[in-house]
Amino acid sequence: RSFDDAGLHPAMLANVKLAGYCTPTPIQAYSMPAVFKGYDLIASAQTGSGKTAAFLIPILSKLMGKAKKLAAPRPNPATFQPGITPFVRAEPLVLIVCPNRELATQIFDEARRFCYRTMLRPCVIYGGGPVVEQFNQLQKGCDVLIGTPGRLCDFIDRPHILTLKRLRYIVIDEADEMVHSDWDQELGKIMNGGDQETGNIKYMMFSATFPKVARELAARHLAPDHCRI
Ligand code: AMP
Repeated sequence: RSFDDAGLHPAMLANVKLAGYCTPTPIQAYSMPAVFKGYDLIASAQTGSGKTAAFLIPILSKLMGKAKKLAAPRPNPATFQPGITPFVRAEPLVLIVCPNRELATQIFDEARRFCYRTMLRPCVIYGGGPVVEQFNQLQKGCDVLIGTPGRLCDFIDRPHILTLKRLRYIVIDEADEMVHSDWDQELGKIMNGGDQETGNIKYMMFSATFPKVARELAARHLAPDHCRI
């Protein structure tokens, strides 16, 4: 298997090559066709297995084909002035939830590589980081949002900053870490945050282990015909 015959969008294939990835890791080889076929996904994945790219590559590749139509409204970055440029609410298409700042920035760095020279713009928000700066980043346009549960819910609860109503994908990374950290309530809120009516949202959970609480979360939100890898 190679990335060349995985059916990737040309811009994604170019970015995968730029990243220096020659062959998919096993988890990537399984995740790409599953995401392309539109399945929800549960993946048992350790750090180092290439799990970040396993969800980023197929999701972003799929969206690149539709980016012109889907990309969020955004101000001109050349003229953007925080506090002066008219306010635009962030309407991400992809939400990636993870337990801590280190992982969030790592996923953000990888998302930035894959979004290079495309219409998609990634943003990252996490607890302990400067709220105003993160808010300003969202204001510049946000198609792919990576965040920790507490800060995400904080932004969802504030009026007019962030809406999940356009979400197409929700990825829960290191689900076991998050259920251990007592974030069940936040996760439930986030999982229910999209527009459930349309049935358009795909859910993916990545975790090293699947304790009972994580399995229950999956059972509540993932489609019954989800794919396990
Ligand atoms: P992760 O499991 O997502 O933390 O990824 C572990 C490391 O493997 C990261 O530094 C990635 O940049 C790298 N990586 C992921 N996929 C590939 C691939 N297909 N080929 C080479 N390196 C990769």
